[in-house]
Amino acid sequence: MAGLYIHIPFCKQACHYCDFHFSTNLQLISPVVESMVLEMELRKDYLKGEPVDTVYFGGGTPSLLPAAALEQILGQVARVFPGKKLEVTLEANPDDLNPDSLSTWKSLGIDRLSLGIQSFQEEILTAYNRAHNAKQAKQAIELGRAAGFEKFSIDLIYGYPHGNHALWKKDLKEALSLDPGHLSAYALTVEPKTTFGNWTKKGKFIPAEEEFVAQQFEWLQEQCEQAGYLQYEISNFSRPDQGAIHNSNYWKRVPYLGIGPSAHSFDGHARGHNPPSNPNYVKTLAAGKLPFVVELLEKEELINEEILTSLRTSWGLNTASLADRYQLDLLQIKGASIAKLSALGMIHAEGKTLTLTRKGKLLADSIAAEIFLDSHDLL
Ligand code: SF4
Repeated sequence: MAGLYIHIPFCKQACHYCDFHFSTNLQLISPVVESMVLEMELRKDYLKGEPVDTVYFGGGTPSLLPAAALEQILGQVARVFPGKKLEVTLEANPDDLNPDSLSTWKSLGIDRLSLGIQSFQEEILTAYNRAHNAKQAKQAIELGRAAGFEKFSIDLIYGYPHGNHALWKKDLKEALSLDPGHLSAYALTVEPKTTFGNWTKKGKFIPAEEEFVAQQFEWLQEQCEQAGYLQYEISNFSRPDQGAIHNSNYWKRVPYLGIGPSAHSFDGHARGHNPPSNPNYVKTLAAGKLPFVVELLEKEELINEEILTSLRTSWGLNTASLADRYQLDLLQIKGASIAKLSALGMIHAEGKTLTLTRKGKLLADSIAAEIFLDSHDLL
């Protein structure tokens, strides 16, 4: 079992909060796609023969790719990684959805749409500099269903500093009324190399207070639970049988190959990434070389990464599995911290598994940090 992630590094315009790798210079689409086809061929052994059963097009904006480019990539996927796929997801922005594009994607074998809606409110979409409007956001799922799609995810952002919670409540109500089956919601973060980051530095933008954002997160948890959605990862909610297979596999440490500029990969032991530059990606592959950079992590870094990632999921951190792989007993080494967090109602310990309580989910990062190991713990 393995995943294939394909990063499409192009967007129509830059959203004010976004620090993903993308370029608005669409002239490189064709050479980048050619290079991706080549990269797949050159890296076909990276997964050591594990069958690829999920494919995920992320970005950037995969939905702006011309049909021929998508066909070229998926043709290569079928040649290099043959076999049945359990899930083929395309991240799509509402402004790219129309009966023609949807029917092309369907005919190419894409069976799940992850819709970059972010908000249904015109003023927030404008504030984010999104390319779509509220009407397009509201119609996206309906259009997808009319084209025969059954699996959807909606992406939303909360924590916009609007002064009150009314717009977020409206967004959530609107999203759940569409019954998407899957919903991902992320707090707005201000990253330094973005327009919001720049404005914040100049005092033109004031991010929301932590407490304000936390209230919106609590509201999100409550509303999703009432609507029958399971919070299977801190930022991801789904109907019981509609969790994202590809993304869940990241959190279960299933290997994946990342293709394209800035894409990350994991072979089961080590991680690595392609540097985030479209021209260099094309140049390097044209020279018959791989742009891939291996990330050498210390043992405690690998363990801490796993602690953080698994604590965020509903299945939690399996300390028995950590013990098998690293010969260490986390429950013993961090016994005092775990007991304290448990007494505070932040963490739930059952047998060898640790999960966060609803209260704990508000402070996931700092709770994980309390049980992180340092090099002395491994001596
Ligand atoms: S949020 Fe999505 S559409 Fe907007 S710039 Fe980032 S990658 Fe592109």
